[in-house]
Amino acid sequence: MKLLEKYFLPSDYFREFHSITPQYLKSRGIKAVITDLDNTLVGYDEPEANESVLEWFKSMNENDIKVTIVSNGSRNRVGRFCDPHDIEYIFRARKPLGSAYRKAVKMMDEDKRETVMIGDQLMTDVFGANRVGLESILVLPVKKKDGWATVVNRRIERVLMKYFDQKGLIQWGD
Ligand SMILES: [Mg+2]
Repeated sequence: MKLLEKYFLPSDYFREFHSITPQYLKSRGIKAVITDLDNTLVGYDEPEANESVLEWFKSMNENDIKVTIVSNGSRNRVGRFCDPHDIEYIFRARKPLGSAYRKAVKMMDEDKRETVMIGDQLMTDVFGANRVGLESILVLPVKKKDGWATVVNRRIERVLMKYFDQKGLIQWGD
């Protein structure tokens, strides 16, 4: 079962992205962040960035931590969220395939060993990051409701989460 851990166990986990601070990232030697959008920063059905998101980006910016959104969503969805705030992004990323992760690392001109992927899904965000050799942080989904493309992944994810929970590897605390 070591393979499950290698590919699907995140380096760390937080209940929400907002708790991931520049200080924490720096303490782990992280200089750049790739983050998922849907159900990581906002609900998948929320078109625009909110105060909480903008504040978080600002605090990363002020601490010289680069952030790029890497989403499997469409140009419309991701552009509408990012363009008004000059947030860098890659849309239709086809996570868990590795190319968009590598492209984002290149865009930020960073080393992949100093880059972390933040996301709400083991099957896409974490799996892709672990394959490429990035650190990964799992967060709880912002909303219970998912887009249609995620329903099957969540079923597999529940099995993986149960396994990690039983091994004491991921415990959310309630
Ligand atoms: Mg997501």
